[in-house]
Amino acid sequence: MPGADPTLSTVDRIKRSLVGLRMPRALECLDAVLRQVERGEIGTLEAIDTLLIDELTLRENRRIKTALVMARLSTMKTLAGFDFAFQPSLDRNRILALAGLDFISRHEVVHFTGPPGTGKSHLSIALGIEAVKAGRSVHFVSLADLVGTLAKAEREGSLREKIRFYSRFALLIVDEIGYLPVVPGGGNLFFQLVNARYEKGAMILTSNRGFAEWGQIFGDPVVATALLDRLLHHAVVVQIEGASYRLRQHEELVPEHVRSKALIQPPPALPPRRRGRPSKLQGAVDQHAG
Ligand code: ADP
Ligand code: MG
Repeated sequence: MPGADPTLSTVDRIKRSLVGLRMPRALECLDAVLRQVERGEIGTLEAIDTLLIDELTLRENRRIKTALVMARLSTMKTLAGFDFAFQPSLDRNRILALAGLDFISRHEVVHFTGPPGTGKSHLSIALGIEAVKAGRSVHFVSLADLVGTLAKAEREGSLREKIRFYSRFALLIVDEIGYLPVVPGGGNLFFQLVNARYEKGAMILTSNRGFAEWGQIFGDPVVATALLDRLLHHAVVVQIEGASYRLRQHEELVPEHVRSKALIQPPPALPPRRRGRPSKLQGAVDQHAG
């Protein structure tokens, strides 16, 4: 029986057990902690507590590191690193509420819309990191890469598996909707994924374009309408209307028409509110965008 070797001292037996249990951090700390006990600085309970917490912390940090790589969240953007004062149109409390991650349990879709450089990707990554820390599975991908991957899978006859792969994550972040035109058929592929995840998993989407422009982005108004039908049901829409953080130090070098676009023009987001009964899409936005 391992560990029962009577020729070993108790401390050596503990060390052997820690090796067997794969507890490298506790093993590393053992001697120092025992010296603290001998000097009367800490009690035995405290010593056990310290060893276990050190080991757990090491494991937790490792798990998070691996999960962040798997999630493709390698650029570390955090909520703590986000300067809310720079983006006054953004309701800080609303973002902090999102960081509570209830939207993931509720399988909701969070939309960040706004001009380039206003922190859409930063906030999505930061929320993704919060989700990883909370033990949720997360995946980050740009729309162009996602559609490219799905198109390749379709050519190779493995579309169903690929859609299943992207459906497994509790949170799928799709970045940069609208920066590049979607390849023909791409909207349809994206729709199949969105449909597979509908009411089963949460998403965060970022876009520099308004929903009214999705027909153009996806090159097909019918697909765009079907997409928005799913993506605005149970949705949180966060519109950022402000200046680019990237350009903040070089404002004088930026041509006036670019600057004024970023500063003044809000994203051409929602179709104008109509009186009377709201359409299905508009209703969904009104209901959840508060
Ligand atoms: P977008 O995705 O909206 O184009 P990003 O989120 O990529 O913009 O932001 C551009 C750069 O500026 C990133 O390096 C990001 O971390 C930084 N950034 C943007 N907004 C803020 C902010 N309010 N506070 C701190 N950094 C910001
Ligand atoms: Mg971005």
